Amino acid sequence: MEIQKGRVVGMHYTLRNEEGEIIDTSEGREPLQFLQGYGNIIPGLESELEGKKLGDALDVVVEPENGYGVRHDQLIQKVPREAFQVDDLQVGMQFQAQTEQGPVPIRVVSIEGEEVTIDGNHELAGVRLHFAVSIESVREASEEELAHGHVH
Ligand code: ZN
Repeated sequence: MEIQKGRVVGMHYTLRNEEGEIIDTSEGREPLQFLQGYGNIIPGLESELEGKKLGDALDVVVEPENGYGVRHDQLIQKVPREAFQVDDLQVGMQFQAQTEQGPVPIRVVSIEGEEVTIDGNHELAGVRLHFAVSIESVREASEEELAHGHVH
């Protein structure tokens, strides 16, 4: 059975960055299950999987535009430390910033004295993604899964 919109795919994957470091992998876990064609995985990977079959293994390179997006410098900002209501603020901490566009996840990327630099870019924004994928299962989705747009 081929992968196409409305089918549920189980896949093992390993995601590496441009330097070959593993960012994420399903190794040691159950295969990732997702409903093809509903934007449940990044578009650059979803489009490459279309038409593949059970047992196929493939390497996919996804450009940032089709992955987690490009980096936007304006999402990097300096804010006063007092804007955070935590005692032991540390680099790497994540928060939800309340903005006019709704809550946005941000990360603390540096702390210099009273000045804190935050980054609202996705951690993988601007990163060229290297996926190694193997297709472990393909099945028709249930009516309910199609109605919801995701796997149950
Ligand atoms: Zn549901």
